[in-house]
Amino acid sequence: MDYKVQHVTIEDEFKVCPSCGYKDGFHSLLKKEQDRFKWFFICPSCHEVFDVGYTVEM
Ligand SMILES: [Zn+2]
Repeated sequence: MDYKVQHVTIEDEFKVCPSCGYKDGFHSLLKKEQDRFKWFFICPSCHEVFDVGYTVEM
């Protein structure tokens, strides 16, 4: 897969897309990284991918 990941810092909530202003939340994407997964969020409107700093242990 080829996509650009934007790093964002959550303040009170992460619901509105910083790129296009879509305001109803995000889809999820898990990407394997060594022995864990990065948890990315995808805007359903503009399809930008965001990293808010989450990692998931499996
Ligand atoms: Zn968007």
